[in-house]
Amino acid sequence: MAEAKLDVVGCGSMVVDLFYRTPKFVHAEQKVALHAHHDDGPMERAAVGGLVLNHLGWACVLGLEVGVFGKIGADRHGEFLRRGIEQLGIRHHLTHDGSASSFAKIFVDTRGGRAIYMARGATAELAPEEIRRRHAGFIRHARMVSTEISQLPLRTVIALLLFARANSIPTVLDVDLPPADACPALGTRAELERALRLATILKPTRAAARALVGAGRDTLKLAQAMRSRYQSQAVILTDGARGCAIAAAGTALKLPAFAVKVVDTTGAGDAFMGAMLAGLRWGLPWRAIGTLANAAGAVCVGRLGAFPAGFELRDEVLELFRGAMPDQTLPAIETPARVNGPLDPSVEVNRFLELCLSELGTLRREIDLGQIRAAVDMIRNAEARGGRVHLTGVGKPEHVARYAASLLCSVGTQATFLHATETLHGSLGQVDPKDVVIAISNSGNTRELCEATLAIKEHGAQLIAVTGNPASELSHLADLVINAPVEQEGGVLGLAPRISVLAEVCVLAALSVALEAARGLTLEQYGRWHRAGTLGAAARRLVSGRHGRRKLKAVK
Ligand code: ADP
Repeated sequence: MAEAKLDVVGCGSMVVDLFYRTPKFVHAEQKVALHAHHDDGPMERAAVGGLVLNHLGWACVLGLEVGVFGKIGADRHGEFLRRGIEQLGIRHHLTHDGSASSFAKIFVDTRGGRAIYMARGATAELAPEEIRRRHAGFIRHARMVSTEISQLPLRTVIALLLFARANSIPTVLDVDLPPADACPALGTRAELERALRLATILKPTRAAARALVGAGRDTLKLAQAMRSRYQSQAVILTDGARGCAIAAAGTALKLPAFAVKVVDTTGAGDAFMGAMLAGLRWGLPWRAIGTLANAAGAVCVGRLGAFPAGFELRDEVLELFRGAMPDQTLPAIETPARVNGPLDPSVEVNRFLELCLSELGTLRREIDLGQIRAAVDMIRNAEARGGRVHLTGVGKPEHVARYAASLLCSVGTQATFLHATETLHGSLGQVDPKDVVIAISNSGNTRELCEATLAIKEHGAQLIAVTGNPASELSHLADLVINAPVEQEGGVLGLAPRISVLAEVCVLAALSVALEAARGLTLEQYGRWHRAGTLGAAARRLVSGRHGRRKLKAVK
């Protein structure tokens, strides 16, 4: 099956904006009662936001296939973000291990003034090494990568830009903050300079460009100065109600903004960036890219909020664009089926299969062969003392345990399924202190399994944990942990154990391979245990091929 490439994947701020209406701003030690949003409405109104989510949202509305990756928290804000992302049909590759999902408390007074308190949370916690270790497969599926100088640590931005460069994926860097705000909050000035040099295309605000290159007030000169300083393919500078300036090879353009009634300027630069990504993807000439981006910026300032609420905004953007450039053709844009109607099963299946490949790719890279070798040694030593192997799990892993016990037996390791909850009701008698028990759990914190394994340990048997969570209770109890790391389960809800089960099966099948190799299992032995079925017939055929007309009973 062909792998569907994403047009752009982005990494950076994913923020829940929490709006409050206040009659006035207060100073330290003062109090004020908030207004409700409507006469009797709630005090707090939440919206999906953050530079990167916003621009990916606009790119998506304009018809690109987009994805977001990074870190959120396992909390209600994270859930809110995920729902917003999925509602637009944005693909995601998110880890849920942030201390808290990023949020901003935005207090708006009666005159429209804003005071913003930001909690960078998970966005600030994405470490450089996570780019390659956790998101490599997802990023490699993209034609372009977008990121930001806003909330992501600069070292992580650099790691991402380097990774994209190594994989020949062009990058677009939204330079939202001037150096005085970016450093030292996000990293050092030297790191900022490095990030700017690594990106293929820069999209600075005028304020950021002025602070970086200080080349007077003319926006085109600023864009050109940035381009030559950072050796960028292009610099597209935004300048609020004055539009934008573009410096690229053979191009020096200033394009005025569209004249529109301004309602809320929040996120204008993000809408601009989203449309710019669409223009780049479609291979438009620079004038058309700038005009399309200005149109999206204008549509954004004409409404409340920054994250696009729905696909109808696309028509508004295209209407402005066509008014300014009637002769410029654009590709036919389709609204993703999942947004307007029921989900398309084949799209979901494709997504799932791609995710399986990506997750198993990560498992392949991260599997610790030392752990497998140690498990083989532990089992072989137990066998030498007359011990056996038991496999146990609760829920879906129970089925994995049954399969793995059967698999191990078929390649010469005496293994039995152990019912986890029955263990505390007598089945512990099945286990001898000489034995090894393999306990399987993705979370590693399943209560019934932890209670059973505690009893097993107290009984004296050795314990191997196969888990996606090396910091779990099960891992702490175990003598040996084999990691089966999985970030996502796949599927529409992403909840039912699917890919974690694949990872567990893979790890246990790998262990069976290692055991098979260690004991030098022969075809004759294998055939002897498979008296029936096609496998048995195949083994017998192979044996008789090898031994002429010798019958299988001769090797019994
Ligand atoms: P940011 O939101 O990052 O501060 P800008 O304020 O520079 O970015 O705005 C980005 C783009 O949005 C501008 O280049 C312009 O195309 C559009 N835009 C911003 N403000 C207005 C406005 N008042 N009227 C029309 N377009 C605007």
